[in-house]
Amino acid sequence: MPELPEVEVIRRELEPLLIEKTFAAPVLHMPSTIAYPSAEEFVSDLAGQTVKSIARRGKYLLINLARGVLAVHLRMTGNLLYTEAAEAKGPKEDRYRRVSLPFSDGSALHFSDMRRFGRLWLVGNDHELQSIVLRRIGPDILNDLCCEDFLQLLDKREQSRLKALLLDQGFTAGMGNIYTDECLFRCKIHPLRQAKTLSRDEKENLYATIRDVLAEGIAYGGTTFRDYRNSSGARGDFQSMLSVYGRKDERCSCGTPIEKATVAGRGTYYCPRCQK
Ligand SMILES: [Zn+2]
Repeated sequence: MPELPEVEVIRRELEPLLIEKTFAAPVLHMPSTIAYPSAEEFVSDLAGQTVKSIARRGKYLLINLARGVLAVHLRMTGNLLYTEAAEAKGPKEDRYRRVSLPFSDGSALHFSDMRRFGRLWLVGNDHELQSIVLRRIGPDILNDLCCEDFLQLLDKREQSRLKALLLDQGFTAGMGNIYTDECLFRCKIHPLRQAKTLSRDEKENLYATIRDVLAEGIAYGGTTFRDYRNSSGARGDFQSMLSVYGRKDERCSCGTPIEKATVAGRGTYYCPRCQK
């Protein structure tokens, strides 16, 4: 499942390719992919719009247009593929293609999604973006928070357990299952610990570690576990750097086998000896 680094990798790749391009009429292979507005309005409102910049908030990709914002959430298995020449020259027939977004110059952006949970929104302005798309989404963990802000947010959620808290996109946006497990391991924090049990040093270290791990994930092109691909179809490499995620029964550097448990409804990997 794409998390902040994977979406940021896509953002960085797409921005120079798409800037100042103008959308032609979208093709909706699966209209229910469009979360807002109606499929008909999406098609008529996007055609003719020019890309001005691409931003990101948590796991949302935000394509800023001359009028409004095209927001994309990849959810479980969504991916965006850019092709220079529209349809036929794409890398082999894609049977999971849900939406094709051609540009007036013949290039195109294709949204594919095996599991069909990914969504696109087209809103008219920032107010709609906030009220319709990002209503329950907290500040971006990489771009919107200094350490003091993060510590204040932690203090408001002192009863919460760290794994569940970091996954909560209303707390901060961007962390998912893989990067959360890696951060808690590096900080030697047990996933079930409550925020109020952390010392100030541990909180500051958690903030710094989250930013380090996300930056490494971006530098490695993201993590490819099952389906993630960047916008040119390449896999990420950060999976080779993972210390605990996906490594059940392998040995931690301390010699203890890594355990897997269900925490906050998610498969969670940790070292029972290192993480207290
Ligand atoms: Zn260990």
